Amino acid sequence: MTQLTDLTKDRPAHVIVGDGITALAFLETGTFAQGDHVIVMGRAATSLGRGAAYAAGEAGTPWRFAYLLNSPADDIDPAFAKWLADKWDEIAATMSGRSPNWLAAAGPLVDAGDIYGVNAPREFYGDFMAEVLAVRRAELETQGVCVTLHDCDAVALRTTPTAIEVETATGDVAYAHHVDVAPGGPSTMDIEGHDGPFAAPSVFGHEHRIAEHIKAGAEICCIGGNAAMLDVLRLCQSLIPDDQIKFVVCAPDGQVPPPLVPRMPRRMTQPNLTTGHETADGFLSEVAREIDAAKAAGDETREIRAGFRAHFLANPLHSFVPDINEARRVPGTLRHWLRGGTRDTIWDMHRLIDAGVVRMVQGMVAGVDHLDTGARVRLLDVDGRETTMDTGFVVNCAGAGPHSVYDPLTEGLLRDGMVGVAPINRGLKVGAGCQTKDARVRFLAPSVTEIGDEVMAMPLYDAHMLRTYVRRAQAKTTQ
Ligand SMILES: Cc1cc2nc3c(=O)[nH]c(=O)nc-3n(C[C@H](O)[C@H](O)[C@H](O)COP(=O)(O)OP(=O)(O)OC[C@H]3O[C@@H](n4cnc5c(N)ncnc54)[C@H](O)[C@@H]3O)c2cc1C
Repeated sequence: MTQLTDLTKDRPAHVIVGDGITALAFLETGTFAQGDHVIVMGRAATSLGRGAAYAAGEAGTPWRFAYLLNSPADDIDPAFAKWLADKWDEIAATMSGRSPNWLAAAGPLVDAGDIYGVNAPREFYGDFMAEVLAVRRAELETQGVCVTLHDCDAVALRTTPTAIEVETATGDVAYAHHVDVAPGGPSTMDIEGHDGPFAAPSVFGHEHRIAEHIKAGAEICCIGGNAAMLDVLRLCQSLIPDDQIKFVVCAPDGQVPPPLVPRMPRRMTQPNLTTGHETADGFLSEVAREIDAAKAAGDETREIRAGFRAHFLANPLHSFVPDINEARRVPGTLRHWLRGGTRDTIWDMHRLIDAGVVRMVQGMVAGVDHLDTGARVRLLDVDGRETTMDTGFVVNCAGAGPHSVYDPLTEGLLRDGMVGVAPINRGLKVGAGCQTKDARVRFLAPSVTEIGDEVMAMPLYDAHMLRTYVRRAQAKTTQ
């Protein structure tokens, strides 16, 4: 018999699937009794809390610590901002002498006494989460709760009247009385030819190969203009001087996202939104007016985004747009209006665009062909006409989209109807308190767009939002 089966056959455990911040939030907020056993089943469960976004980088590589959080530290979590400030000397020593020069970019904020406002390397948020985990484990152990972190892929979940069986890729089965599933988002959009001699399907995990092309002087072409594209730019900057970079971005709108710039004292836009809109369009017109008014009053994107986020956390979308199908039409537009990204890198982007080192191309990439010495990108322009563009090496930064797939366990949950797909916006749908069709199983991931009767006004692709909704799910469970 295998290990998890031995551990749980006679006494089912509370199982958490996943290794990111959402899985950790389920462990942090869960109420467990003396003698309970909690088993975390994650691909890297022993690094619980880091997940895909905040993983420890590879020691000795120039790009270690290059990838930054998209928001000021205190927008992610005020406790993290305090941690960063407390550890500043250590962090400054770690970051000293690195390229790009993160310390110089952070300098004006640090000099103004605003370490809370910096865009920290994402790995540091993972370090903070590792401490959160250690504290929670110690607390649970003192309460007589056993926590096992088990590195594995959970591939299937079966509900029976007596227990939920969670099976791993190696055929081991854990028996559970409750399961919380936090598997993260689906795979990146599949684009024809995105994996080949002159293209990588993602930046993450492909850095060594991309780095060879950057160092050889190839033009790097990113498909998509959001966060992962900014990471690719940082990867380039970590390897060669800025004036040697050749970088092109193909994005449907051809725009660089606005930077999230913190100011002292912090403030947030206070949207003034009326209730009872019959249509999404009517509500969105009001939001547009509020955004314009905030801009006219001098508010920055960070202030507008943080203000709307806080407003929608306190006032769910259905209070403004009661018809659920109309509400479902809102988030796609709001997501675009309220998007923003990493201050340091976006400012670098603009500087490098002005210097002619970076260029933005408007269009959708339909496919990539591999030539003898580089790639040919097939682009659909705004009128749907196909054009081609030759480049050095292509990196798919497009995010999820058509043909994206989830991990096998989540695909199974979708097939079995445990987790639904919302009409119109096609996001994932779970019940109140993140419950699935079986009340013993909860599910939360960044791609969830509906929890009970609440349509998420803004996407859950945001650490703060995910942690908030896990807390709310727990409060509902213990009501
Ligand atoms: C590269 C990147 C950068 C980001 N930057 C920011 C940022 O700066 N600020 C911000 O607020 N948000 C950011 N995000 C958004 C991010 O989605 C959330 O902040 C948050 O990290 C999501 O956490 P999660 O635990 O839900 O999912 P993830 O972090 O994706 O973790 C899920 C984990 O579960 C594991 N897993 C999945 N299925 C299984 C299974 N069946 N069995 C075992 N293990 C499984 C996966 O390997 C994965 O590591 C970023 C996301 C990415 C991908």
